[in-house]
Amino acid sequence: YIKQLKQSGIYFDGNQEKAVVSTDGPLLILAGAGSGKTRVLTARTAFMLEEQNIDPGSIMLVTFTAKAAAEMKKRIAYYPNMSPAKVNRLISGTFHSIFYRILCFHEREKWSSDKLMKKEWQREQILKEAGRKIQLDEKEFAYDLALQQIGLWKNTLIMPHEVKPESPWEEKVALLYKDYESAKDRQKLFDFDDMLIGCYKLFMDQPALLEIYQNRFQYLLIDEFQDINKVQYELVKMLSNKHGNVCAVGDDDQSIYSFRGSDPAYLLNFKADFKNTEVIILNQNYRSPHEIVETANTLISANLNRHEKEMRAQFSGECPPVVFHPYDEEEEATMILTDIKERIEQGERPGDFAILFRTNAASRAVFERLANSSLPFRLDQDIESFYERFMVKGMLSFLRLSLNPDDSEAIKNILPSLFLKQATFRDLQANSILNDCSMLEALTHVKTGFTFQEQKLKKLIPLVRSLSALPPVAAIDIVEKDLGYQDFIKKRGNEGNQLEKGSDDVRDLKVAARNFTSVADFIEHADHIIAMNAEIKRSSKTISDAITLSTIHRSKGLEFKNVYIIGTVDGSIPHDYALDAYRNGDRQPLEEERRLLYVAVTRAEKRLFISVPHRRRGRKASPSRFLGRI
Ligand code: ATP
Ligand code: MG
Repeated sequence: YIKQLKQSGIYFDGNQEKAVVSTDGPLLILAGAGSGKTRVLTARTAFMLEEQNIDPGSIMLVTFTAKAAAEMKKRIAYYPNMSPAKVNRLISGTFHSIFYRILCFHEREKWSSDKLMKKEWQREQILKEAGRKIQLDEKEFAYDLALQQIGLWKNTLIMPHEVKPESPWEEKVALLYKDYESAKDRQKLFDFDDMLIGCYKLFMDQPALLEIYQNRFQYLLIDEFQDINKVQYELVKMLSNKHGNVCAVGDDDQSIYSFRGSDPAYLLNFKADFKNTEVIILNQNYRSPHEIVETANTLISANLNRHEKEMRAQFSGECPPVVFHPYDEEEEATMILTDIKERIEQGERPGDFAILFRTNAASRAVFERLANSSLPFRLDQDIESFYERFMVKGMLSFLRLSLNPDDSEAIKNILPSLFLKQATFRDLQANSILNDCSMLEALTHVKTGFTFQEQKLKKLIPLVRSLSALPPVAAIDIVEKDLGYQDFIKKRGNEGNQLEKGSDDVRDLKVAARNFTSVADFIEHADHIIAMNAEIKRSSKTISDAITLSTIHRSKGLEFKNVYIIGTVDGSIPHDYALDAYRNGDRQPLEEERRLLYVAVTRAEKRLFISVPHRRRGRKASPSRFLGRI
């Protein structure tokens, strides 16, 4: 079969070939980026189907994202003589999708999809109810972080009564966790983590059922094994307990999901749990030129906590990685787009380009520049537009009200920062009719029961009115300082995501506003970008030849001819939270940030551009400390 593949132009080196054909017993493929791990998995599947005539329904192929799963099937279908019917019968997908299907098969009612809490706010709502019971201050308590912590416990199979809190904060979260679980049960709802836990319990409770699946799934193949967590690992162990045909593929240097409970130890200790494991190391990098592979090697070798390995490239490139220094985010976006345009004029395709960033918010300038160009581009995940982020939306709403004091959406959006309940909106509507005034003016008639607060509301109206005449940056300044937004952000802390802070949003907003001279122009721009974002979301899946905009996390496993890494400065990569941890003596988060940069660097097939702006979020920035070595 290997010979036949060779004749069709599909080559494997010695170790790869061994990995393709050793289909019996546990196999661990430990290898750096671009060494053909995923390719070996597809070839191995093709080999089993074509050469060994193994029933496709007995092969389970697990990948990290739905997109990666689809891509793998597509690749398998390309192998010579492969029948599409066989490929379709493969059990392939993410852990969640595969095990959810199993659950639905046995307990359809309980797991019906309308009971799934898909959105973070749904889960937060339950948590907040629990919080009220123990008198937590809704505005002060970081519910998003609590949710993350609960997820971590769940994925590590630590049930509510088993939690051993390590801080006063964790003590509170542990209480919430108990309540969260029982509220969820009472309302017959479930979250994503429950899918895997549910399957784990199902198999634990019903050994006979487990045995059926053990017999059914004779071959387990798992890509990106470094990001597996406890519950996933236990499921793999259970299912393969009888036959032991597990092929685990991974690179400990690309473990970047520890905040979700992923642990590369499962990869590195695989041999201990799976008897007679064969280990294959791949150390040829087929993706990138020598210059990029060397950069990646040097970069990652600074990590202490890793399995030593050195990648060797197969070819030399046309140029070493390029580091460039734009003034700020705006110039960064301009430089990148100019470069991409030139290269497309020289014959490259939009699909050959990827722009990678550490956090969603960091993509704002590039997104705006692309949205205003004719270049096709795609977002690989559901990124909300910058102007729809909670804090940004709130600030902009003051600006909107200065243009139109009857903008009811904007009124709704400023209520939280004025510490008014959403129900106040109806009073405002009534008041504006009763007193024949605008919604904004109706704020003066609001009775909150606190004279102090009522006085403040009265003073606020002329200030809001004055904003429209100011340059947008000055207007934002007033919202921040005189209209109490700064205090609100301080109280509210982080919104939605521990990595992205409200105060960062304000600074980003000011950088964006600098390009405009009037509030009206700036609002028009924001609306245009919001509309474009919705448009992109709708059309993203249909454009195949497009520039990819993606977080580094989501780019794992993918490859692009040209890769641009933006915002490579301290505070972004490595992220501030990792720098804080490092200062407090915890080195692990910093190492994970370095792995992130390693993942980004190793996506490039031809050219790599690392952008190191002088300023970020309106302040002076220093180059990422990771760049020193390279
Ligand atoms: P990552 O760690 O980033 O997921 P990987 O180890 O899964 O990387 P692949 O994506 O499978 O690597 O392969 C990287 C690139 O190298 C692909 O374009 C693949 O087609 C190519 N490749 C792998 N092995 C060979 C080979 N023996 N000959 C030619 N090309 C190869
Ligand atoms: Mg891969």
